[in-house]
Amino acid sequence: METSEVYFTSMHTELQDGLLDKFRRLMDAAGIGSIDMQKKFVAIKTHFGELGNLAFLRPNYSKVIADKISQMEGIPFLTDCSTLYVGKRKNAVEHLCTASLNGFNSVSAGCQIIIGDGLKGTNDIEIPFKGDHITTAKIGREIYDSDIMITLNHFKCHELMGFGGAVKNIGMGCASKRGKMELHSSGKPIVKEKRCRGCGRCLDICAHSAITVAEKAAIDHNICAGCGRCIGLCPFDAIAASMDEAAEVICRKVVEYAAAVLAGKPSFHMSVIADVSPFCDCHKENDLPIIPNVGMLASFDPVALDKACVDLSQKQPMIAGSRLYTNSNGIKPDDIFKCTHPDTRWQATFEHAIKMKLGSSRYELIEID
Ligand code: SF4
Ligand code: SF4
Repeated sequence: METSEVYFTSMHTELQDGLLDKFRRLMDAAGIGSIDMQKKFVAIKTHFGELGNLAFLRPNYSKVIADKISQMEGIPFLTDCSTLYVGKRKNAVEHLCTASLNGFNSVSAGCQIIIGDGLKGTNDIEIPFKGDHITTAKIGREIYDSDIMITLNHFKCHELMGFGGAVKNIGMGCASKRGKMELHSSGKPIVKEKRCRGCGRCLDICAHSAITVAEKAAIDHNICAGCGRCIGLCPFDAIAASMDEAAEVICRKVVEYAAAVLAGKPSFHMSVIADVSPFCDCHKENDLPIIPNVGMLASFDPVALDKACVDLSQKQPMIAGSRLYTNSNGIKPDDIFKCTHPDTRWQATFEHAIKMKLGSSRYELIEID
């Protein structure tokens, strides 16, 4: 296994030298300048935070990256895809409103914002991929069309994968609605009868005529191809993925999606270990962080980057009163992620990432001031 370089800087600052100065130096030291960006579309993949969440990364970080891309004569845009679940980011209109309420606009982020998979999460492309779980990855079209990808990742816990970092931001975050359904479920969508108003709008979207509507809609799972298009279409959130996939299988599918997204595309990855909440930023609440803020990291290898984040986080003391502290009865566990979410096995992400040649879990940590 190859050893990848991961650059790190702590959250400690000196007078007149702020975190964004350190973030800029980190990006430069890790070698972002070696990418030829001239006249190329550069997607900065981030997460705008669910409405109500306050743990997401502020737009100030994105602006540092966007300004650098512009200096290098690239064309940056900030992006994310719509969500599968009911929330305030499930279509492009609500997603842009939420981004705006969370402080993201073309001035604060230093570039335009484009939702990666279109108005209703159906504007995607199928990328062939020979994985153990998938044969194609359904990726937001705008992200696919970008020439270069830079990821800006908030490192925190995740209720299905144990932790969420670069691999999750790429694999899960770039998937369109039907892609996310494939990641989360082994089956077909279901109708939530209490929500369904029998309006019939879902009938036309189904290319397989799997939906019938009497008083309420019904999906014939013998005919349904699992494309997920009806989920984004229902204006009353009455169609949902079954969310029945095992946590470890989700880790492996996310790796395969991430490998498909990055195939043939130059990329560079930055993570911030701060406000390490027990749940991902898709939650409208973020609870106490489980550990103190650690630092910022950058690498060309998203797997090595995630592994360095995991290792640094595992060494931290717990924050009293956090979910981790409560789950462990105040005694520091060997594995903070497993203790926070006992049903997860985060190691599966690294095992599969190595198998899929997404990156290396062996790294050299290079610390800068
Ligand atoms: S599932 Fe949604 S779109 Fe279909 S009939 Fe029910 S409310 Fe209308
Ligand atoms: S998931 Fe696709 S195939 Fe299945 S009912 Fe919905 S639109 Fe039809």
